[in-house]
Amino acid sequence: MKLLEGKIALITGASRGIGHGIALKFAEQGANIAFTYLASVEKGEALAKELEAFGIKAKGYRSDASDFKAAEELVNSVVADFGTLDILINNAGITKDTLLMRMTEQQWDDVININLKSVFNLTKAAQKPMLKQRKGAIVNLSSIIGIKGNAGQSNYAASKAGIIGFTKSIALELGSRNIRSNAIAPGFIETEMTDALDPKIVEGWRATIPMKRGGTIEDVANTALFLASDMSAFVNGQVINVCGGMLT
Ligand code: NAP
Repeated sequence: MKLLEGKIALITGASRGIGHGIALKFAEQGANIAFTYLASVEKGEALAKELEAFGIKAKGYRSDASDFKAAEELVNSVVADFGTLDILINNAGITKDTLLMRMTEQQWDDVININLKSVFNLTKAAQKPMLKQRKGAIVNLSSIIGIKGNAGQSNYAASKAGIIGFTKSIALELGSRNIRSNAIAPGFIETEMTDALDPKIVEGWRATIPMKRGGTIEDVANTALFLASDMSAFVNGQVINVCGGMLT
């Protein structure tokens, strides 16, 4: 028996990285997948075919997660195309790292809007079909940087800390309706986002991890699978650190 057989999942930012890995993992486990992309149009368009090879229904939507109206329209389209929505994975995210002294208002706003406002946008829209069917699982991608902070990432850390407060509040608001809300706080996961970093910084991070390696996309996707599936039926309002013991 597959863990997500017949469930409808919406994953934001699945064209690359962790979101892409979660989409593949969920399709392998029998979920029908609605996913979004924004800049990576070719990759986004190719993903639906990749997912359909698992024998499930898949559809990609080009949608900006930071746009409130677009999020509402997206969820309406997903419900029209798939019938309902069981799982929401708020994964879309960016970094615009720099010291506070150099950070522009635009860099602050972009990171807060794409990382944090997007979670509000999508969760608010997704709660409607979830409330109607009296069940749902919401999984938000935070970061250990949102727990411990990081020099040069004040905008990113604030967005990821905000996601944790939001996740816990929604868990309290919607728990009685059988809608669970949890967060994943990945540590150093090696993806395109981290490829853009200085190799010396990356080597330094690996050395500080008790398991002496960066995390893989699969490490995060497996945790998302647990939180999205009925395996975690009584887990609500929690943050699971996937960091190899980096933050204990
Ligand atoms: P990534 O490889 O850069 O991928 C980011 C994804 O988000 C892409 O698919 C991108 O789509 C999408 N995206 C960006 N802006 C968007 C927008 N406005 N609307 C819709 N989609 C948008 O990043 P990643 O490393 O996989 O990270 C995924 C999530 O995990 C992020 O929330 C990140 O903060 C979190 N995280 C990552 C790490 C890590 O070490 N990698 C650690 C902790 C937390 P397009 O390319 O199509 O625009």
